Amino acid sequence: MKVLKFGGTSVGSPERMKKLLNIINADERQIVVLSAVSGTTNNLVEIGQAYLKGDKPKAAALIKALKGKYELFIKELFKEEKYLNRGKEVIDYHFGLLTMLSNDLFTPIEDKIILAQGELLSTTLYHVYLQEIGVPSVLLPALDFMKVDEDHEPLVDYITDHITPLLNKNPDNKLFITQGYICKNSFGEIDNLRRGGSDYTASLIGAAIRSEEVQIWTDIDGMHNNDPRIVKGTQPISQLSFDEAAELAYFGAKILHPQSVFPAQKYKIPVRLLNTMDPQAAGTLITNDSEKNKIKSIAAKDDITAIKVQSSRMLLAHGFLRRLFEVFERYKTSIDMITTSEVGVSLTIDDTTHLGEITKELNAFGSVELDVNQTIICVVGDFGAEKHGYAARVLESVKHIPIRMISYGGSDHNLSLLVKTEDKVEALRSLHSRLF
Ligand code: ASP
Ligand code: MG
Repeated sequence: MKVLKFGGTSVGSPERMKKLLNIINADERQIVVLSAVSGTTNNLVEIGQAYLKGDKPKAAALIKALKGKYELFIKELFKEEKYLNRGKEVIDYHFGLLTMLSNDLFTPIEDKIILAQGELLSTTLYHVYLQEIGVPSVLLPALDFMKVDEDHEPLVDYITDHITPLLNKNPDNKLFITQGYICKNSFGEIDNLRRGGSDYTASLIGAAIRSEEVQIWTDIDGMHNNDPRIVKGTQPISQLSFDEAAELAYFGAKILHPQSVFPAQKYKIPVRLLNTMDPQAAGTLITNDSEKNKIKSIAAKDDITAIKVQSSRMLLAHGFLRRLFEVFERYKTSIDMITTSEVGVSLTIDDTTHLGEITKELNAFGSVELDVNQTIICVVGDFGAEKHGYAARVLESVKHIPIRMISYGGSDHNLSLLVKTEDKVEALRSLHSRLF
């Protein structure tokens, strides 16, 4: 059984929603995961923020505007009066709930209930649409099987145990629809898998039912070998390993939620990235295999801060790095790149919320220097320890650009460079023209 996930733009208009059936094969047993209609989750975030600030009039105005969009949406989606009325009921129910929340004490729990309404709306409306056109389908409530533990880690076995009976209850049905993104947490409250989390839902369901394949449908023809907004002539990558995909997903290739790689990898479920606008295009296939002797892709991540700590006390000392890392741990700040020498360490962070406190504590170790507005350029390929020549090719390509840090050997498929953000475009273009 396959799992197909469609993102916000793929259900972003009634027209697009209707076209899903060009891709979904209604005769094949499969689970379709839908995101919220594009823009909706952002609107829901704003509504929640207005409530959290106690600004009820603003929340009411935002709710009204969003409801207006859905009223137009269903007018185009449904033909018959009967189904239009059903659509109205669906909208009234969900927007009624959004309005009602103003009566209660508003906490992050209510906020998450608000965020869940986007996927509940898109899936329910699609389900009613399928009824109108006479395509049988079953709506699976994600809140009945999608669950995370106290560390916000999804519980794959729980998902298996709870989704399987729902599927078995409908042995003759082919098409199952469910919500991406939303889940229950360890307190049984409504929660979510964080922004962009519908990909993660699809991968988790894929793992839980040991699916033959997970398909992520977006509006680009797979992961590209460089940033198409910056570099001309980028190509979709036909095949990636899970590890390579995880590196690229983290480094700003926005097309796949980084965590969604792991459940599929663990249960060896192939993941395909496909394009709703061009369904015949090959897209990107992510499996356990990695292509040998190849540079696969280049990606970049902005808003990086580099921190250099230099201290003669580091020379021959043990325990220095542990104490240094503990500072970052205390402030729950994750480190991306690290390079060391005998008398200094440079590392990068992307979350600067606690930079002030961190710098203050690091001053106890030695001199501290900060470089802001940095960009990590990540080159992904087959760079195992027995390989030679790749680092030279990469560095040769950027020899005219000042480099702040180099990281190689952390994994078998990543070489990262830290450059000033103002040099990013030139670095990406120069690497592209020389490596591909
Ligand atoms: N609707 C959610 C978001 O916008 C989840 C998703 O689209 O993947 O973040
Ligand atoms: Mg997405």
